[in-house]
Amino acid sequence: MHGVSAGTATAGAAAGITGRAVRAAAVRELPVKESEEAWTPAELDEVRAELQSEVDRLSHQLHDANSSFSALVRSGGEGAGDDQVDHGATTAGREHEMTIANNARELLEQTQRALVRMGSGVFGVCESCSGPVGKARLQAFPRVTQCMTCKSRAERR
Ligand SMILES: [Zn+2]
Repeated sequence: MHGVSAGTATAGAAAGITGRAVRAAAVRELPVKESEEAWTPAELDEVRAELQSEVDRLSHQLHDANSSFSALVRSGGEGAGDDQVDHGATTAGREHEMTIANNARELLEQTQRALVRMGSGVFGVCESCSGPVGKARLQAFPRVTQCMTCKSRAERR
């Protein structure tokens, strides 16, 4: 019992490292392919900034899509006397808005997840095989969560 509480105290002291040290360690520990250099803080900041601007952009897009969707629903409700042609046009518009909103929502979730993964130090770890996704791949597609091998395997299925 004494040993357990001593271990807890040690863990607590280790967690007390300054934020700067923790961040530098996280950058060093992010996986890259054997042929690649480790992430530099500048490279990581660049990807993070890109992801963050995507979150902003998609949030706005989603907000706009939701607004026009509400407007379409309202106009559909008020236009009870519309003929078939107008009704059809409204339905098509509604489906179009919903598609845009669904795509934006999905992208937004993927982007936010990438930022969370970056914060918790598992950015670049393949979700399927736990191997490195690859820095070059992440710089091109920061939202991917699988390495090329797992991704192409998943697509063949
Ligand atoms: Zn993989």
